[in-house]
Amino acid sequence: MTSEQEIIYLDNAATTFPKPEAVYLAMDSFYRQFGGNAGRGANPLARKAAGLVDETRAMLRAWLSAPEVTFAPSATIALNTVIMGAKLRAGDVVYVTPFEHNSVLRPLEHLRKTFGIQIRVLPFDKHSFECRLDEVKKLFRLEPPAMLCLSQVSNVLGLVIPVDELAQIAKQIRPDSITLVDGAQAAGLRQLEMSLIDALVWSGHKSLYGPYGIAGIAFGTQWRPEPLLRGGTGTISESIEMPEEGVSRFEAGSQNISAIAGLNASLKWLNETGRDTIIEHSRSLTNLLSDVLSNLSDVIVYLPGDRNLITGIVSFSVNNIKPQMIETALGAQNIAVRAGLHCSPWTHEFINSTASGGTVRVSVGYFNTDKDIQQLRSIIESIIYV
Ligand code: PMP
Repeated sequence: MTSEQEIIYLDNAATTFPKPEAVYLAMDSFYRQFGGNAGRGANPLARKAAGLVDETRAMLRAWLSAPEVTFAPSATIALNTVIMGAKLRAGDVVYVTPFEHNSVLRPLEHLRKTFGIQIRVLPFDKHSFECRLDEVKKLFRLEPPAMLCLSQVSNVLGLVIPVDELAQIAKQIRPDSITLVDGAQAAGLRQLEMSLIDALVWSGHKSLYGPYGIAGIAFGTQWRPEPLLRGGTGTISESIEMPEEGVSRFEAGSQNISAIAGLNASLKWLNETGRDTIIEHSRSLTNLLSDVLSNLSDVIVYLPGDRNLITGIVSFSVNNIKPQMIETALGAQNIAVRAGLHCSPWTHEFINSTASGGTVRVSVGYFNTDKDIQQLRSIIESIIYV
């Protein structure tokens, strides 16, 4: 066995690993057998690649329950496309959860500094981690939202955000408000009422068990942002402007077709395995992980009162030991977790962990087992009770 095979991988929030075997095979065979460029010409290889892109898009539309799905190279680029293309103006109020990733916060902060948008943080209870929806209604009436940016699942706490409820309140109070959901951690596994969601950003390499280099936007309504990038699309080539309609408006440049080949295979695997089976496995591992960590003395676990509010991710810290030291010590025993602020600075302010260097994040995936969690427990014990 190589050391990679022996590793207990509990960093699935960074990227799911391993991938289903079919993903590796599909990517390998793409370049060996038909590495043509989709939508660029009618030669047999280009047509085969275009067929693969179309089939994958159709599977994504079904899996995400969205009428239109675009491709982008990463969730970060897709999030920037929506935020920078939303035509926000000075004074527009954008509400965020306290759990947003920097790939949402940094574009918003840029718009705040450059154009004077206002950023407001939605009220969540510090103990129960629940969103105070009654207070939200009052806030929205006082300052109607131009946009909501909502992490679907916190990448630090695993907290599931009541996205549908928030989008509904926003649309009731201001029908033209835009709801963006950052679905990097959960897209497709947790279904949304897509008729309320203007844009859901999904990531191929995380909850969809596909490769790096492929992500995108699922549009649930008629709303569309301005494109972020402009360039060749293989369509309407006589015009030097971007196509007005359709997915190619958001897909300048050659697609990452090898990644799409991998995603195609992972979507087939997801369909065969079944959403419910994957969610159930994650729920059972998350419960075990929460119990195991909560039973260790000197360990602080960042859990809501209602365990049903979290999925897949649990953060903890240990009294008087820096999270980075725990990560290094676990790494030395071949256990992969991630310590620090996880690109989500406001989440760590919310749980008051910034000054102590953040938390240790444990995140499970479909290929983890109960044994992995028990192994983690015994190694944490050996590290902290010396
Ligand atoms: N949003 C969330 C919630 C994330 O966890 C991540 C990745 N850590 C991103 C956005 C950005 O994804 P990527 O780095 O793949 O662009």
